[in-house]
Amino acid sequence: MDFAHSDRAADYLARVGEFIRAEIDPIESGYHRELAALDNPWVVLPIIEELKAKARERGLWNLFLTAESGLNNAEYAPLAELMGRSVIAPEVFNCNAPDTGNMEVLHLYGSDEQRRRWLDPLLRGEIRSAFCMTEPDVASSDATNMAATAKVDGDSIVLNGRKWFSTGVGHPHCRVLIFMGLTDPDAPKYARHSMVLVPLGADGVKIERMLSVFGRHDEPFGHGEVSFTDVRLPLDAVIAGPGRGFEIAQGRLGPGRIHHCMRLIGLAEKALELACVRATDRVAFGKPLANLGGNRERIAQARIAIEQARLLVLSTAWKLDTYGLKGALSEVSQIKVVVPNMALSVIDMAIQLHGGAGMTDDFPLAAAYAGARALRLADGPDEVHLGVVSRIELKKYVS
Ligand SMILES: Cc1cc2nc3c(=O)[nH]c(=O)nc-3n(C[C@H](O)[C@H](O)[C@H](O)COP(=O)(O)OP(=O)(O)OC[C@H]3O[C@@H](n4cnc5c(N)ncnc54)[C@H](O)[C@@H]3O)c2cc1C
Repeated sequence: MDFAHSDRAADYLARVGEFIRAEIDPIESGYHRELAALDNPWVVLPIIEELKAKARERGLWNLFLTAESGLNNAEYAPLAELMGRSVIAPEVFNCNAPDTGNMEVLHLYGSDEQRRRWLDPLLRGEIRSAFCMTEPDVASSDATNMAATAKVDGDSIVLNGRKWFSTGVGHPHCRVLIFMGLTDPDAPKYARHSMVLVPLGADGVKIERMLSVFGRHDEPFGHGEVSFTDVRLPLDAVIAGPGRGFEIAQGRLGPGRIHHCMRLIGLAEKALELACVRATDRVAFGKPLANLGGNRERIAQARIAIEQARLLVLSTAWKLDTYGLKGALSEVSQIKVVVPNMALSVIDMAIQLHGGAGMTDDFPLAAAYAGARALRLADGPDEVHLGVVSRIELKKYVS
């Protein structure tokens, strides 16, 4: 593996870094204050659309999608890290979850008509989307439990059931959901489910409530609980045809996990930076905080942990590019365990060094902690990924 950035990646890195420094860093805390002060924070503030237009004009747009940017996973990974330092940057560059994963699904599996109707406006950043897999009534870490139904009825598909933690469903521009449901309980285990494109305004779709995550609603994207009651759609709303839900889900997850992990590494870098500033600026017992107790060692351990995690993610991205998902299955699960836990411990250290201030929204650390904690669950809990790693490891010893 070559550790140097390609010329193309280095060029994007310089330009994305400069954009974040010049356009996003100066307005970000004001943006959050303004949104929090609104009676209705489920809105897109004008600054977001202005920044999106600028980023698009400069060609810093849809960088996650190889077909659009020409960047492979290893080249895109450091860009995701830069974007992860900020809550709003991913959206500004049209590189935010869950839209990235949904666009990838449509790019890989969508029909011409599905792409025209949904992928094109998503790529232009005009609409947003959500992914509806997890259900309140079944343990969804085992995706084969999924009980919501997507039944073929003549030339229609009919959806029933309840989903939750549908991220992005609260966004005022959210127009389409990817719903995964049980189509044929008698088919082989991984051919029972389908993925269906559901217009948010379709009859029978209802956002029941927006969920809080550690007391936050993550406006304007949010995480919704959504009911589907006899939602009838033409059969051509099914992505790639009935029964292919698991196959599509698998294709969606490799790059998505690299993106999540690299954004979290960016967040951990930001937390370490804040910790170092606080530790050198603030004095207690006659010394800078950095010189008290074990604080220097804590900072050193954080630096080491970030470097280790980054190397693992970059080598996973390289394996994914070189051997495909099958050749990087264990690594993709490894990073999904390592990175959120690493980020949590770095952010926790930074919060501690900030004292009470670290718990407030005067600093981005409390929100960062909530975000990193959620990623020990979102996209599969740690235990499920550890199960994948151990299965692959033990298989080597079973004849
Ligand atoms: C902020 C946030 C955003 C999310 N966004 C989305 C989204 O956009 N779309 C979507 O569909 N879902 C989303 N999710 C849901 C997430 O993917 C699920 O919460 C996760 O897959 C776990 O499913 P569950 O909540 O049903 O937990 P359960 O399946 O009930 O599992 C609970 C716990 O059981 C234990 N467990 C499970 N399996 C094993 C095992 N094999 N070995 C040992 N212990 C085990 C683990 O401790 C696990 O955490 C989001 C979640 C959060 C918190």
